[in-house]
Amino acid sequence: MKKLTFLLLSSIIIFSCETTSNKKEAEAKQREPNSFSIVIHGGAGGIKREYFTHEQQEAYSKKLEEALNAGYTILENGGISLDAIQAAINVMEDSPLFNAGKGAVYNNEGNQEMDAAIMDGNTLNSGAVAGVNHIKNPILAARIVMDSSKHVLLSGKGAELMAKKYGIEMVDSSYFFTEKRLNQLKKIQGKEKTQLDHTAFLIKNELIDDHKYGTVGAVAIDKNGNIAAGTSTGGMTNKKYGRIGDVPIIGAGTYANNLTCGISATGTGEYFMRTVAVHEVSSLIQYKGMTAKEALHEVLFNQIGPLGGEGGMILMDKNGDVSWDFNSTGMFRGYKKSDGDTKIEMFEQP
Ligand code: ASP
Repeated sequence: MKKLTFLLLSSIIIFSCETTSNKKEAEAKQREPNSFSIVIHGGAGGIKREYFTHEQQEAYSKKLEEALNAGYTILENGGISLDAIQAAINVMEDSPLFNAGKGAVYNNEGNQEMDAAIMDGNTLNSGAVAGVNHIKNPILAARIVMDSSKHVLLSGKGAELMAKKYGIEMVDSSYFFTEKRLNQLKKIQGKEKTQLDHTAFLIKNELIDDHKYGTVGAVAIDKNGNIAAGTSTGGMTNKKYGRIGDVPIIGAGTYANNLTCGISATGTGEYFMRTVAVHEVSSLIQYKGMTAKEALHEVLFNQIGPLGGEGGMILMDKNGDVSWDFNSTGMFRGYKKSDGDTKIEMFEQP
């Protein structure tokens, strides 16, 4: 018995020593001077290799690469992280492949209502818009709210008036139309359900991707070590008119703080709001000394998962290291770093 207790105690001591040394290593690590990097996501959900044709995989991969490069070029030229994430998100908002900007999903009234947020990890300034449907790139309007108002979150008409006043491109709501999204709504209408993007499944060998995640997000660190995070979404198919998700709620779906990290989330928004998910990750790193990987796992698998929520997060830490995790089958994701390391992935974690 004594022997068993001794063995147990020594393995606990060894385990906690290892964890402490991991943490010390992470803390001691310094960002390479002038280094920079960017990480993006294009939504999480039931993304399985067998649901996508080769051409579809190529299309997603190319668009993610284009978005990464748009942000990376800005960072490479000495631009700030806020501009870099905005550029990356613009590329994905303009693509009907993702549930943001063109290609946003429909609410239960057959309209599109988009949410977006941006945050500056240096100053903790942030801006967000909710329920807009005439702003071509909602992330640009979020930036205007941050830079040019005393507020953090503007909704509907007020947000659109402000965007217009500052010269942001406005469009007729028909611009956002895509047949695919309308069909997704028709399939689910009448059911008391909302759905997330990319949770595709096969019926009679036909690809039906009518579950709705597909939100887009980006986090970057620039040469000065400033972190910025942003997220843009159409929300969830068949959501109630007026529903606002986690994306424009600072700390739920979008957060950046130079002391810890920047994070953008995607998934069933209500659960990310109830757990104040991305701020929780940052706090676990700051106050509990967890590594980014541990903190992401804790929130996704021990907090959001047990409540019934699903999704993923991308994270850039203050050293320019990238982490991501998801409790869904897959997540469109990629990063590009100034040391030449780059990756684009969609399916389950290797
Ligand atoms: N989180 C978004 C929302 O709930 C949806 C998504 O990520 O696809 O509005």
